Amino acid sequence: MLKLSNLIGGEFTPALGGEVLENINPANQEVISTIPRSNGPDVDRAVDAAGAAFKLWRVTDVRERADFLEAIGDEINIRLDEFAEAESRDTGKPISLASTLDIPRAISNFRFFAGAIRQEKGEAFHGQAGLNYTIRKPLGVVGLITPWNLPLYLMTWKVAPALAMGNAIVAKPSEMTPTTATLLGEVINKLSPTPGLYNLIHGLGNEVGEPLVNHDGIAAISFTGGTKTGGRVAACAAPKFKKLSLELGGKNPTVVFGDADFETAVDGAVRAGFANQGQVCLCGSRLLIDESIWDNFVDAFVAKVKAMKVGDPGDWETQVGALISLEHRDKVSRFVEKARALGGTVLVGGKSPRLEAPHKDGAFYEPTVIVGLDHGCEVVQQEIFGPVVTLHPFKGEAEALALANDVQYGLSASIWTRDLARAHRFAQSLEAGMVWINTWLMRDLRTPFGGVKESGMGREGGAYSLSFYSEPQNICVNV
Ligand code: NAD
Repeated sequence: MLKLSNLIGGEFTPALGGEVLENINPANQEVISTIPRSNGPDVDRAVDAAGAAFKLWRVTDVRERADFLEAIGDEINIRLDEFAEAESRDTGKPISLASTLDIPRAISNFRFFAGAIRQEKGEAFHGQAGLNYTIRKPLGVVGLITPWNLPLYLMTWKVAPALAMGNAIVAKPSEMTPTTATLLGEVINKLSPTPGLYNLIHGLGNEVGEPLVNHDGIAAISFTGGTKTGGRVAACAAPKFKKLSLELGGKNPTVVFGDADFETAVDGAVRAGFANQGQVCLCGSRLLIDESIWDNFVDAFVAKVKAMKVGDPGDWETQVGALISLEHRDKVSRFVEKARALGGTVLVGGKSPRLEAPHKDGAFYEPTVIVGLDHGCEVVQQEIFGPVVTLHPFKGEAEALALANDVQYGLSASIWTRDLARAHRFAQSLEAGMVWINTWLMRDLRTPFGGVKESGMGREGGAYSLSFYSEPQNICVNV
């Protein structure tokens, strides 16, 4: 069986304690590999190795860094199929999604930040008090902690700008999706001018993530994951005044007005609801529908969801693969049972599908649509992070806005209407970090990515990422 290793100072190595954890394919429950069950002393070694690499990397010029990032993107591109298969096996997501979204986006992340630093401008101020110029300096060793839903996509969204600005990294991927971060280690090892720029420590959140956050040698933490874990990370980082970026959960509204282009809105709402089995922080899990089109829209939406192909993630026709684990599948199922108990009606789904071996015991759950729930109930208020969408009618813009904003989260939203004045007005009143009008998950990598309320703190993307992974220093000359 495959044994994955930590990566410390350019060497693949087991955990000091010698313990391992199993990495399970959620679609068939087979053990794919083992990973090191690391803890504090492994983190210490990784931080030391990164610290040594940082001394050399911080003084490199921007052209060298940009060329390095480009080369990483090119090398992942050469190995795209291998990366995509590994991502699909670890997560249970359809191979079509891993091949067309996850891995291509990881490649784009490296290419994009290579271009961004080549084009970056400095700041200068004069005419008031001397001549001032501001440079951006790297932070040092940064800790990157990522979740299981878009493993390489989200890890590279942090790795690329961190390296671009001259930092060294200790990365901690989710224990459930360790493989592509390890493959990335192979790529970086092959191309790196300096061993130890990208160190990787596998293991559990409390045993690896927390020592990383607490480590005095770590200058900043970029965390993507659940809101509850984010709170814990923030509490650990605060007394040490560490720079912190938190990308957390969401319970995002899809708002369909009566004048929306009907087919486009139905397709968009299905995609927003069920992409990656509903396990994207940006998924539209609350579908708010104008009462004037309620009946037709609900029928069309349900028909499209019913037609989605659930099953073997390795089949290119599959649209809905497995959830990340049996535990998570059971959590999703408990939310649906709760919805039933609260008087909700399941229009489609609401159970695990019957599949043939080897997927018979996989962590599958049918895409599920529920109506009739009070908007204040826990099923509608809490993040389920699975293939479950609840439907809610509204009458008029004011009610739509009140419902859209009526959750603790504020990550994203999508609005579907032909009335552009209303679309802009409504978008600006939403409590959300990102709003899409007549589309969903359309991404320009220069734009700010992040949420308000309990969806996080800070922004990633373009200049926002470059700013996070660096510290400005102003130099004033008496002229
Ligand atoms: P999670 O919070 O359980 O784990 C995320 C990472 O944190 C994992 O690597 C985990 O091992 C680690 N971790 C756990 N406890 C820790 C601790 N005490 N200290 C430090 N690290 C710790 O999240 P998950 O279940 O892997 O991912 C799903 C969640 O991520 C959802 O809530 C989803 O909305 C969120 N998410 C947010 C975004 C975004 O950009 N806002 C993107 C993707 C996922």
